[in-house]
Amino acid sequence: MANLNDIIKWCDQTLLSAEFKDYAPNGLQIEGKADVKRIVSAVTASETAIDAAIELKADLLLVHHGYFWKGEPYPITGMRGNRIKKLIQHDISLVAYHLPLDTHPTLGNNVAIADLLELQDIEALDSSERHPIGNIGYLKQAVSPEEFQHKLQQVFDFNIVHLPANKSSIHKVGFCTGGAQDFIAKAALQNCDAYLSGEISERTFYEAQELNVHYFACGHHATERYGVQRLGKALADQFSLEYHYVELNNPV
Ligand SMILES: [Zn+2]
Repeated sequence: MANLNDIIKWCDQTLLSAEFKDYAPNGLQIEGKADVKRIVSAVTASETAIDAAIELKADLLLVHHGYFWKGEPYPITGMRGNRIKKLIQHDISLVAYHLPLDTHPTLGNNVAIADLLELQDIEALDSSERHPIGNIGYLKQAVSPEEFQHKLQQVFDFNIVHLPANKSSIHKVGFCTGGAQDFIAKAALQNCDAYLSGEISERTFYEAQELNVHYFACGHHATERYGVQRLGKALADQFSLEYHYVELNNPV
């Protein structure tokens, strides 16, 4: 059993969350019981994730996508009201880490992708950023775009969309999880052969062609399911807690 405030303090210090200007508050978003025995993590604090946390008798729900995003209306009503009511009724804390969990060098979503794809010599996609949101890495050996798509398909278990460029092989790969398709321009500036993110836009098709960077959409959920698992396991080890990850199977 651990104290909620100790858990939050450890996360904030480990993830350096105070150093980020983010689109939503990082850390404790909704306060539940002070003593925590069991953590459940999920990518997004959807009603399905909350129901799973209730079912698993969690004291704390840890997510990548929490609530209170910039520009959202303030009133706690409707769908969000329903979610928050359930959490409060069951005394479950909601803890969310967004950008700090994308970029962390060992627990983050981006480093997880580098590990899964066995990318080497990882560097920043934009070297002016203190905590780089996107990264670049190198495949052990160059592969054809078709071979790379096949590898991505296996790693992410997702129906990969490939927007082709005019390059016959891929060695240098830019990557950023989630909805970072527009960073393809940064990947082009760094002479990447390919760039991958989660989501895709209509414009991305032309950008891949004209910037001559192969684009691969690997799923927002599929590319961001790793950070919350790594952080959940790290918390379980640090504080001797029970921990479960809930896979929500979001096809987007
Ligand atoms: Zn995301």
